[in-house]
Amino acid sequence: MNKESPMHVLLVDDSSMMRSLQKRALTTIGDVTFAEAGDGVEALTAISAHPEGFQLIFVDCNMPNMDGITLVKRIRASDKVTPIVMVTTEGEKKRVIEAIKAGANNYIVKPFTTEAFIERVKLTLVLRSIAA
Ligand SMILES: [Mg+2]
Repeated sequence: MNKESPMHVLLVDDSSMMRSLQKRALTTIGDVTFAEAGDGVEALTAISAHPEGFQLIFVDCNMPNMDGITLVKRIRASDKVTPIVMVTTEGEKKRVIEAIKAGANNYIVKPFTTEAFIERVKLTLVLRSIAA
């Protein structure tokens, strides 16, 4: 991670508790700033409000108004590079393939430990830097 400037992360989940959990975990890895959205529609608004972009986006699979896979498709229509991690539950596991096809770079299944979450974050960023 770049030590000079904070990493900008967008957390998209209809559960504010899940967003807090992700925030707390990410704070342990360094200087991170956050934007949050409760559904896909809010996420697109947050993305337009941050023209400088994000270094990482977490997208919950199941949300009201606009679900995660639709959101990933909408993001990928104009942004092919920002790493996206899909957050699913055990029951939504079959949607992971759909999410990857839509352009998600990685996924994590709820419930997860802070350690598992951080590992997934690091792996996603490393894979992104290799691909870049
Ligand atoms: Mg949800």
